[in-house]
Amino acid sequence: MIAGNRPINYLRISITDRCNFRCLYCIPASPFKVIGHDQIARYEEIIRITQLACEMGITKVRITGGEPFARKGIFSFLASLCDIKGLEDISITTNGSLLNTEKMEHLIQLGIKRLNFSLDTLTPEIFKTITRKNDFQKVWDTIMIAHHLGIAPLKINTVILKGINDHEIENLAALTLKYPFHIRFIEYMPMGDLPVKEDQQILTGEIMGRIESGFGKLLACESVEHDGPAKKYKIKGAKGIIGFITPISSHFCAQCNRLRLTARGTLRPCLLNDYENDIITPLRNNATDEELKKIIQDSVTRKPSCHHLADPASMHLPLSHMTSIGG
Ligand code: SAM
Ligand code: SF4
Repeated sequence: MIAGNRPINYLRISITDRCNFRCLYCIPASPFKVIGHDQIARYEEIIRITQLACEMGITKVRITGGEPFARKGIFSFLASLCDIKGLEDISITTNGSLLNTEKMEHLIQLGIKRLNFSLDTLTPEIFKTITRKNDFQKVWDTIMIAHHLGIAPLKINTVILKGINDHEIENLAALTLKYPFHIRFIEYMPMGDLPVKEDQQILTGEIMGRIESGFGKLLACESVEHDGPAKKYKIKGAKGIIGFITPISSHFCAQCNRLRLTARGTLRPCLLNDYENDIITPLRNNATDEELKKIIQDSVTRKPSCHHLADPASMHLPLSHMTSIGG
């Protein structure tokens, strides 16, 4: 499938909008309703949509949420996903708190070895401030289990917020001196009604400057398959990589190869634009494969040329929050 001149081969699937954490940059300030059980896309429905999307050129899938491991039955779902013809790569983004050695070994047995963890701090108290859960040790232990079981490259997503965890930029970057991890600093995206203020956003230039002040000039690394939009660097002599994901300061819309399936069964052409195509209702009303494929094709065609999030006068601030779309 092609959008403009971009081949679309990557589907990100949010299997739940529920999460055991309440991260400041992800969960709205005002109370919000989770999707009802009858509205959430069932596993067999997700499998059918993914199968059709793979027949149309999707080769990579990332499972996300909400917290994917908070949904019951995920391991049987992942096993069915692994059986889809044409699907070459399955990865998962997780907060890590609900995983243990046994579950990690199960993932590896299924052939799923690409895991991204989210961790914004190395300080338990700050972890609690950001996620509103006292689970730093659990998450760190999971990351260590994954490392010892050979998950590599082990990627860690970090969102930096001024006044909350910006004093930890150097410590997080220093993890790459000790471990072969990819620490990826993601610029905070203002979505929905979040408790984070605009002036708490820190852009990549500033984060990079702070790392270079502490560790010297960062060395640019070549991109390889599965790097996605991250621009990669290394501290001289480090084992790991530092990545920067810059949706605000330097958007990568022209290279975006993604389509998203939300937890309520809509196809979303762009993370940062609220247009969505309902595919679950026609599927539940016995649509044929050809009819569903038309909806997938239409969603690809509707990918916007770029988002407007960096424009202060923008009227395009997405109203949805990340847990239902899948970050
Ligand atoms: N619960 C899982 C986790 O935290 O890894 C998967 C879902 S979470 C929505 C996926 C990613 O989105 C996380 O790495 C998180 O840091 C990132 N994220 C959430 N809200 C964000 C925001 N407003 N700006 C930038 N990244 C955000
Ligand atoms: Fe949950 Fe992930 Fe959002 Fe944090 S970022 S609230 S862990 S979905």
